[in-house]
Amino acid sequence: MTRKATRKTTNVELLNQLRDVLGGRRVSRGETDRLNYGRDLWPRSLLEVRQGQVPHQPDMIVWPETTEEVSRMLRICNEMRVPVVPFGAGSGLCGGAQPLCGGVVLDTKRMARIERIVPETQMIVCQTGIIGAHLENELNRHGLTMGHFPGSFGTSTLGGYLATRSAGMAATGYGKIEDMLISMQVVLADGSVNRTRTAPRRATGPDFNHLFLGSEGSLGVITSASMRAHMLPEARAYRALSFKKMDVGLDAVRQMLRLGLRPAIARLSDEADASTTLHALGVEAKDCVLLLVFEGRVARVDLEMKKALTIARELGGRDFGEATAQRWYGRRNSEQYRQSPLMTEEKLLLDTVDVSTVWANAAHLYTAMRKALSKKVSVLGVMPHAYPEGCSLAFTIISRVGSADDLAAYDAVWRLALDAAAQAGGALSHAHGIGRLKFDRLARQNPVAVELLRGMKRRLAPNDILNPGKLAPCTEGAC
Ligand SMILES: Cc1cc2nc3c(=O)[nH]c(=O)nc-3n(C[C@H](O)[C@H](O)[C@H](O)COP(=O)(O)OP(=O)(O)OC[C@H]3O[C@@H](n4cnc5c(N)ncnc54)[C@H](O)[C@@H]3O)c2cc1C
Repeated sequence: MTRKATRKTTNVELLNQLRDVLGGRRVSRGETDRLNYGRDLWPRSLLEVRQGQVPHQPDMIVWPETTEEVSRMLRICNEMRVPVVPFGAGSGLCGGAQPLCGGVVLDTKRMARIERIVPETQMIVCQTGIIGAHLENELNRHGLTMGHFPGSFGTSTLGGYLATRSAGMAATGYGKIEDMLISMQVVLADGSVNRTRTAPRRATGPDFNHLFLGSEGSLGVITSASMRAHMLPEARAYRALSFKKMDVGLDAVRQMLRLGLRPAIARLSDEADASTTLHALGVEAKDCVLLLVFEGRVARVDLEMKKALTIARELGGRDFGEATAQRWYGRRNSEQYRQSPLMTEEKLLLDTVDVSTVWANAAHLYTAMRKALSKKVSVLGVMPHAYPEGCSLAFTIISRVGSADDLAAYDAVWRLALDAAAQAGGALSHAHGIGRLKFDRLARQNPVAVELLRGMKRRLAPNDILNPGKLAPCTEGAC
């Protein structure tokens, strides 16, 4: 394997050519910009910052506004063999947007135009640099909702969601982002533009949407997308229920979905999470707590909630009423940002391990991962999303930091987490992607798939300029 992309970004010619395309104000080599675009929100990078390091800084940052501009700038970078890293809002938790080989960071946030909203068919066409919350506000004005509410809702982009296969809090009801995508426009490394057709379903060979979904900026730059939206719900019903054990709560959710009930949100906290994060909302339970939110037409919501409560009661669930779930819902978008002071003032590091599995294995995976992680760190466990065939599990891991060994300790905990997940049959990632954090595991778990991916990268980006070193690295060693 050889490195093909080279770093010629100090080249004045590149700077001049990019300025010709974008104008002087949308190309920066400023020191502050280079520092800010040197990382995303991967907690390991936060540890590096604490130690005074931002090891991978880009040489330039650009802010294109149109597909045409992205195409022209990629053509230039491809000819000069300069790495290009697509960057949404940098809220990724795995180092996916880190410019490992320097080069140009392409910030998409000025590509935030909504091109079309079609309320009659609940469809929207828009550029992918739009922030999730802005998109949702605009949809709401037309009586629609995306139904996609990740914890980073106010600080992440549509392009980031598509490139990482994101899941929002209401994925149980509305699906993950891949369930909402209809078609997309992608600029390839040589500047050519690929569009998938806007049609509800196709039988025209493999679905090219899926080639770019989850591609983490390494196969093309997604510049626009047609997305499926939904009518704003007429009614919403909330409930908090407690269960003695996690496996009983998991089974309750499985039974609800099996009957065809579709709560928008079914979020089951283990005892540790309930007594920490839900305690602030007035939950005194020492047990696991299930938050349920049903939404949609009034009659359906009432019926579904009634049936869900029957199932919960039959399994010994205790009903806490509406208030707690309603309060949690009100705070859902700011919940994770409330953790920031813990990181800065209390010198704690919080991170999330997200995995998924089928129902038959869910309780086993939960127990195995909690047991393994608890040896090294404090753990809060949640089942945040459920599907008819299984669920995701997320573990907030909390450790004290502030010593010279922090990075080594961080890596050791993640090795433990991913070993435990692999041994207990969990998928490597449910929604956060692969990034820098998990790519060697991906290669070990599925070498054939990774070799296929590498082949696609060689074909689509033969000079390896797109986010080099990520997903299925074509090259090895330092850039
Ligand atoms: C507090 C907090 C809560 C979070 N909660 C959730 C959650 O509930 N669910 C969830 O799924 N994630 C969550 N995340 C993770 C993160 O927000 C998601 O991964 C999100 O999809 C990243 O979007 P972004 O725009 O910030 O992308 P970035 O971090 O900028 O980029 C992520 C990856 O996508 C690539 N990329 C970005 N835009 C494009 C594009 N237009 N074309 C091609 N490639 C592109 C980048 O190169 C990179 O590899 C959370 C993060 C934080 C900090």
